[in-house]
Amino acid sequence: LSETVTAHGLAAQLVKSGALIPTGAQGVFGRGEDFSFATDGLSNAIQRLFGKDAERMRFPPLTPRGDLERIGYFRNFPHLLGTVHCFCGDERAHRELVKAHDAGADWTAAQAASDLVLTPASCYPVYPAMAARGPVPAEGYTVQVQSYCFRREPSADLARMQTFQMHEFVRIGSPEQARAFRDQWMETGRAFFQALRLPVELEAANDPFFGRAAGVMGQGQRTQQLKYELKTPINDDAPPTACMSFNAHLDHFGKALDLRTADGETAHTACVGFGLERIALALFRHHGINPAAWPSDVFELLEG
Ligand code: AMP
Ligand code: ZN
Repeated sequence: LSETVTAHGLAAQLVKSGALIPTGAQGVFGRGEDFSFATDGLSNAIQRLFGKDAERMRFPPLTPRGDLERIGYFRNFPHLLGTVHCFCGDERAHRELVKAHDAGADWTAAQAASDLVLTPASCYPVYPAMAARGPVPAEGYTVQVQSYCFRREPSADLARMQTFQMHEFVRIGSPEQARAFRDQWMETGRAFFQALRLPVELEAANDPFFGRAAGVMGQGQRTQQLKYELKTPINDDAPPTACMSFNAHLDHFGKALDLRTADGETAHTACVGFGLERIALALFRHHGINPAAWPSDVFELLEG
């Protein structure tokens, strides 16, 4: 079955079936019926299976710029961050921009950075919200969150989108609570992919740091085993793609946001993230273009 899918390219098949709606920008797709069935179904199944003991939060895909500055995202990933720019000129500036546009020139000179950025990972708004509550209780916090995320990585690779949905579980508490949560989830995550009948490999990983420091930073993450990923084949001509990640942040967010446990120590955090589009793509890749023809247990899991 998967042969017929990949013979003509998964992207072409999904566009032809209407599952994905191209917009003209790389890595920015509308979702038709079948793709929505998969991503919404995944989100609902994750909520049903794992969400019971987690506090549900939903944030829009925008974050105050000041929060990402406190977290220091622009230090490590300036190449991925999308800032929201807006017009803030007067009427004369407006006349000039319209003139520039109509002359085929750059009309964006009067656009200035606003106080908003596009959220790069669903969990980012959770830490400032929890820090605002005061000291973290002894049992810690477990939160589940989902939003569209933006990362400026235009690519012809169907699995590398600029805007995609991430469903995450976040733990905030003592170092032991954070680490145990991250480690337990690796098995839970693997079982979820088994239920979806997707082959996965668990691998140590690192984040795509920017510039010259990238090698050292990435190596540091690997040495401390801070990041693992579950990978499954999506593209025929590429190695398996990360569909889920398991992240130990140590006290990074705790320090940046002054998140403290009841005993005054800096809180540790961890998060695990499901990439809904990538898991959906894997389902189409492995089970075929038509969800109604997927293995019935997989279909039922997604249908709810
Ligand atoms: P990360 O925070 O980089 O570990 O991302 C968490 C999960 O989000 C990954 O395991 C992917 O499933 C998904 N993801 C990350 N980047 C992209 C992207 N550019 N396009 C689609 N999904 C992505
Ligand atoms: Zn996260």
